[in-house]
Amino acid sequence: MNQQALVLIKPDGLKKSLTGNILARLSETKLEIVAAKMVRVTKELAEEHYKHMKDKPFFKELIKYIQGELHDRRKVMAMVYWGKDAIEKVRELAGSTNPEEAESTSIRGSFGRITTSGIYENVLHASTDTEEAEREIKLWFDPDEIIVELYPTKKTIVDKHEKRVWS
Ligand code: ADP
Ligand code: MG
Repeated sequence: MNQQALVLIKPDGLKKSLTGNILARLSETKLEIVAAKMVRVTKELAEEHYKHMKDKPFFKELIKYIQGELHDRRKVMAMVYWGKDAIEKVRELAGSTNPEEAESTSIRGSFGRITTSGIYENVLHASTDTEEAEREIKLWFDPDEIIVELYPTKKTIVDKHEKRVWS
């Protein structure tokens, strides 16, 4: 079944210069990248992305982490991978959430670490199921930033909407 998955290279992945490495590993899946951009993550975006973790004791630290405040890299690389069994394939290569428990050859097993404050720095995010993928992709991307039609769209006239354009 064709699926789509949101993949984020987290600030620790960027700081450790792992972008090329992670892209090369993920290219083994033969999935297609149908959207990609660098994002400066606002607190609002971070909290919305991780809203299911709100009650965790490490939530505040997690928000700082994805915003890049722990790594002096205030950006993440956001991508949508698309193709057959995309979610399972990406998650398999990513490895378990806890980098100490992740398969040692997986991306997280190879490059992740647990910090003294307890947060799992696991270098990338990947959607876990189709519902989560839909929520996350719609949160991180506008329809026009994705080169295929993944979800239904509608046209609307946005009135008095301020937008920055090239001067
Ligand atoms: P995943 O990213 O594998 O889907 P979760 O959605 O459960 O994992 O958690 C989101 C992120 O929160 C993880 O990637 C990791 O950075 C952090 N995290 C999750 N569980 C823990 C934990 N028990 N201790 C510290 N950090 C955690
Ligand atoms: Mg998750």
